[in-house]
Amino acid sequence: MKIAIMGKIHSDGPEILKKNNIENFEINDFEENYLINKLCDVDGIVIRTANLTSKILSKCENLKIVSRHGVGYDNVDSNYLKKNGIPLAITGTSNAVSVAEHVMTMFLYLTKNINLSNNLVKSGNFKKKSELPDFFELYKKKILILGFGRIGQELAKRCLGFDMEVYIYDPFVSKNIIIEKNCFPINKEEGLEIADYISIHMPLNNSTKNFLSFTEFDLVKKNLIVVNTARGGIINEEALLEAIKKNKIKGAGIDVFENEPPRQKHPFFELENILLTPHNAALTLECRKRMSVESCTNVINYLVNKKKLNKTNIVNLEI
Ligand code: NAD
Repeated sequence: MKIAIMGKIHSDGPEILKKNNIENFEINDFEENYLINKLCDVDGIVIRTANLTSKILSKCENLKIVSRHGVGYDNVDSNYLKKNGIPLAITGTSNAVSVAEHVMTMFLYLTKNINLSNNLVKSGNFKKKSELPDFFELYKKKILILGFGRIGQELAKRCLGFDMEVYIYDPFVSKNIIIEKNCFPINKEEGLEIADYISIHMPLNNSTKNFLSFTEFDLVKKNLIVVNTARGGIINEEALLEAIKKNKIKGAGIDVFENEPPRQKHPFFELENILLTPHNAALTLECRKRMSVESCTNVINYLVNKKKLNKTNIVNLEI
């Protein structure tokens, strides 16, 4: 059996493939014709962020499984896989903690103006601390979490640990589950009106594109800090820019962009109260190891020992 690994992953996963006598090789050139040539006889593909189009997939005659190193799969033509009965796996148990910690980091950094304090001390102005602008606590503040899946739930736990009031907007999760987890279900509009913090944890699709846009930023509180670690485009970037520039909100933390990488001189780069990271919320060393092992284990279990397969990792289980 032969597995292609598209993009560099931590060595722990390929080592497990090797132990199971499964040949594997890494590809780092994602040009379409090159990929067609390299993938035409593989039994499985482990993939990071490169695109797997139907044109490429249709040439993979032996393909039995595609395994995403991560949980979002908008870079893979999932319709093609569904039509052709090929499972698409994700690393559902690996990412949530790492992303939730990233959100807490952004909240704390922006809330406490850490950059200003750091600059003050390093510029020899320790004694001028009373001149710093006010900074705040998370304690007793209201957070609205949009999307209560794996990451949303891990974030909720951490916010409850900080004694925040946690409000959830997710029409696909029952109110009882939300209440059992000590959170409050809320509708979108009310949530926007009361939130001190918003964090986005839903997929990008037709109903979530521009979920936070001009209309929404007119409803929110002036002290709002909004964080997007889900997918670019769920927040409309023009609307966010306007909200920040016109002081409609206090700040934003952005890990994901409408176009990645964002263009040079993107207007976000000039703003002190937008904190930016390069789509690396899930790239802690621990998480990279877990994703590498889980993505390869999905392949091994599917090909060699289906009984061990974690079926919740298969996004097109209906096939
Ligand atoms: P998940 O599938 O476990 O949860 C998504 C939740 O969103 C579900 O509970 C679903 O009911 C809810 N949802 C769907 N449509 C909705 C809507 N219109 N309104 C409100 N809720 C809606 O996914 P997850 O693992 O928690 O991942 C969440 C997001 O984070 C995904 O977009 C994923 O791609 C992204 N992600 C980003 C990184 C990163 O590095 N920045 C890492 C991992 C995941």
